[in-house]
Amino acid sequence: MNDEQLLRYSRHILLDEIGIEGQQRLVNAKALVVGAGGLGSPAALYLAAAGLGHISLADGDQVDLTNLQRQILHTQERIGQPKACSGQVALAHINPEVQVEAINSRLAGEALAAQVADADVVLDCCDNFATRHAVNRECVRQRTPLVSGAAIRFAGQLAVFDSRHKDTPCYSCLFPEGDDVEEERCAVMGVFAPLTGIIGAMQAAEALKLIAGAGEVVLGRLWLLDGLSMEWRSVNFSKDPQCSVCA
Ligand SMILES: [Zn+2]
Repeated sequence: MNDEQLLRYSRHILLDEIGIEGQQRLVNAKALVVGAGGLGSPAALYLAAAGLGHISLADGDQVDLTNLQRQILHTQERIGQPKACSGQVALAHINPEVQVEAINSRLAGEALAAQVADADVVLDCCDNFATRHAVNRECVRQRTPLVSGAAIRFAGQLAVFDSRHKDTPCYSCLFPEGDDVEEERCAVMGVFAPLTGIIGAMQAAEALKLIAGAGEVVLGRLWLLDGLSMEWRSVNFSKDPQCSVCA
């Protein structure tokens, strides 16, 4: 790191749990953020501000007026632009040192595999089960840590998966593919604006801790936030020996 970087990241470097070594790991690291919406916005903003060196931001949608209530990467002026490009502009304004790759498509197949192969950590900030399961499959296959978040109405969820550790569950152990779960979309169900900020910022926190080697990342636990009572609860879950992805 040069002098300006040492200054920019000084409040991280002051933390014993991060220090110069941890910050250097962040500067050298690469994160894949799947989705530049309500969760991806705060997640990517914090990753960039904190100096995570390379960020790939993937989203196939364009900025819409209805996004601006919560998707703080985007602005009124960028309505109609691809969200990944709009996000790239926002991140460059916060920290021009960070290299941001904008991927203007819904990641799947070989493109997804290649992006996961390149990443030290993946943040699932998407809004549909097909992508969530595809991202999980690649993260398990390539043993890449995955920080998963969700937010709908006043309900938030957070869980971290790390297939580098044996016998830890994957996303599919928790939410098996093909289960009869009704897909709940913000477009029809609504979502409380700052809830996406809370969950997305926590995704960034867990990703930064994973890379910097700070503190404890709890595996096999799903955090649930009730935004109306502002109460957290957590449930433990374990590896499903019949899981179609990781067993
Ligand atoms: Zn599994």
